Amino acid sequence: MANQTISLTDELHAYLLQVGVREPDLLRALRAETAELPAAIMQIAPEQGQFMALLMRLIGARRTLEVGTFTGYSALAVALAMPDDSHTVCCDVSAEWAAVARRYWQRAGVADKIELHLKPAIETLDGLIADGETGTFDFAFIDADKANYDVYYERCLALLRVGGLIGIDNVLWSGAVTDAARQDDNTRAIRAINAKVHGDERVDVCMVPVGDGLTLARKR
Ligand code: CA
Repeated sequence: MANQTISLTDELHAYLLQVGVREPDLLRALRAETAELPAAIMQIAPEQGQFMALLMRLIGARRTLEVGTFTGYSALAVALAMPDDSHTVCCDVSAEWAAVARRYWQRAGVADKIELHLKPAIETLDGLIADGETGTFDFAFIDADKANYDVYYERCLALLRVGGLIGIDNVLWSGAVTDAARQDDNTRAIRAINAKVHGDERVDVCMVPVGDGLTLARKR
């Protein structure tokens, strides 16, 4: 035992999935279908989906934002955890991925609760701000192009209510954040947002080593 987060071996990870995750059948099916796609690595882990769903219940979320929806797993996990009158605004630019997402949302009976905008997320977020929706969202999940993370963070923070939560995905970037040889735009952007959020007095923060690293920032 050590006072450091444990590294998960494959065996331990399998055990965690076995006794620590209750994945609904539809989410499992969506994960299996997505695993066949070339971009499968972009899918969040089931333990992370469940963690986010639990957070929605804990904060009583009814209105959520998602920047980067891919095939809809996280949006579905979140929507299933919210009441019937909940509302989720999703941003993505791929019609191909959106078609998969919509098919599963339909099957799960949550399609009416999710509004997917197929255009650059900044346009959607700025549209919400222009419509006077600042301070009205309970949760925002940021999991899109890393170079724009800072822009997404600022927009989402404006759209969040006080006490609302932002989840920033891939903050450990498969370990590249500590690899000095990695100086590509995405890695630099993630290092920059990590440093910024750490020092941001507007939020309470916790970087959680689930999946590829998930930073939670609660708006003060
Ligand atoms: Ca991700």
